[in-house]
Amino acid sequence: MFKWFRRQISSDEPPISREAVRGLFDWLDRPNPPPCDHSHRLTTEYLRDRALPTEPTLGWLKANGGYCDCEVMFNVTDKWGERIGWEPANEDEDA
Ligand SMILES: [Zn+2]
Repeated sequence: MFKWFRRQISSDEPPISREAVRGLFDWLDRPNPPPCDHSHRLTTEYLRDRALPTEPTLGWLKANGGYCDCEVMFNVTDKWGERIGWEPANEDEDA
């Protein structure tokens, strides 16, 4: 269990499914999010709601530059968005 946990946070693959990561990005990217309070409040909420492993996932996010909710949006989506098939909500609907 701990071996798995260590390997996950130091390796590239997220400890939760890619689908769950996409869901997390969508959740953080929703319209009018509350301002980031420099914690993983929203991320933790998402993970807890879905009974996903909180600590390994936060570890993975931090390893990818996501030290708070807004950094997850900036840094982790930048690194992982394309790789897991996540696209930011389209801002111009006419395109
Ligand atoms: Zn922040």
